[in-house]
Amino acid sequence: MQKKEIRKPELLAPAGDMEKLRIVINYGADAVYLGGESFGLRAKAKNFTSEEMEEGIRYAHSHGVKVYVTCNIFAHNSDLKAMEEYFCRIADMGADAVLIADPGVFYTAKKAAPSLPVHISTQANNTNYMSAEFWKNLGAERIVAARELSLGEIREIAQNTDIEVEAFVHGAMCISYSGRCLLSAYFTGRDANRGACTHPCRWKYYITEATREGEFLPINEDERGTYIFNSKDLCMIEHIPELVESGICSFKIEGRIKTAYYGAVTVKAYREAIDDYFKSPALYEQKKTCYLEELKKASYRGFTTGFYFGRPDSSSQIYDNSAYIKNYDFIGLVKEYDEENGTALIEQRNKFSVGDKVEFLCADGEGFEQSIDAITDSHGEPADSAPHAQELVRIKTAKAVKCMDIMRRKNNRREK
Ligand code: SF4
Repeated sequence: MQKKEIRKPELLAPAGDMEKLRIVINYGADAVYLGGESFGLRAKAKNFTSEEMEEGIRYAHSHGVKVYVTCNIFAHNSDLKAMEEYFCRIADMGADAVLIADPGVFYTAKKAAPSLPVHISTQANNTNYMSAEFWKNLGAERIVAARELSLGEIREIAQNTDIEVEAFVHGAMCISYSGRCLLSAYFTGRDANRGACTHPCRWKYYITEATREGEFLPINEDERGTYIFNSKDLCMIEHIPELVESGICSFKIEGRIKTAYYGAVTVKAYREAIDDYFKSPALYEQKKTCYLEELKKASYRGFTTGFYFGRPDSSSQIYDNSAYIKNYDFIGLVKEYDEENGTALIEQRNKFSVGDKVEFLCADGEGFEQSIDAITDSHGEPADSAPHAQELVRIKTAKAVKCMDIMRRKNNRREK
């Protein structure tokens, strides 16, 4: 096996809508992935209209960031005609690649827009270097490694092919094989493979006995509970050196339907971890706990390293409930900062009041804590609180802030 030159990986972030796109770009993403109104595997995400996609691509490119458009459904015959037009439109907009799982969709894209680079989605179950070679020979530029691969297996793929290898490093895990799952279609008629998963893997289950209709028997796994399919979230921030050394060219964060706040926190943490590691591995080692602590300030379900270091065991699942751990609330987004009087115009995202202790998460540099001493409402009048969603108020900040910095407040609860 030939050892390849080690390069700084791309940090690839989810962009569920325009705001999330702007935020993850400002917090340090090198590339974003997003879905159009059709053919992506996140029907519940807001997704981008044609106009928004065009604007998003323009915005990303003006910041030197690439845009990959997801088109990773398993298509039916009736989808194909519209897909051809869709690929032509995406190519015209200047997207940097399209993400595909289905060979028929791949062929359609190659026919309709031959110059549009194609990445092969994790849904295509890229589990070995021969299938990577197969896709490369057909003209794909990148594969996304199946989530069921160990680090050793990914390394072997990267060393045995020239195709780029992208891998998930953070976010929710499917309990089913790379998302190939019938639970949602079976229970609700909404097909996970066409972007409409209702997440039944997170539901609470009972068993029933055939002759005892209506009697629901609890399933006690080690007497801890009944959430038998409920995986913890993937988190690889403590393993950046191993990921880099394996030859993965793109570190992907899951979560197009997560909040803009989640995007900001995860992108900033991985940005710092990758940059620090490339500056000095010792610096990275020293700050490892800080990155992890920062990630815990976004919602999560406990962390696991998934399949990277072997098969996940019982510690990779949560048995007692399906709620997120949410240690902080996203309460405001900075829209502008007035240097003269040291005040920030804040767009409210959750109610906050005078006297609250808050923390600023800054896209560039260190965040800081402070108390809110006074609030001025949109009419210039003093107010006790900012109770209305998206209302614009002013507060004095302890340090200078910038547009898209985030104001958050500590809490301690679990949330569905
Ligand atoms: S139900 Fe769960 S395992 Fe199945 S596709 Fe949806 S998220 Fe994945």
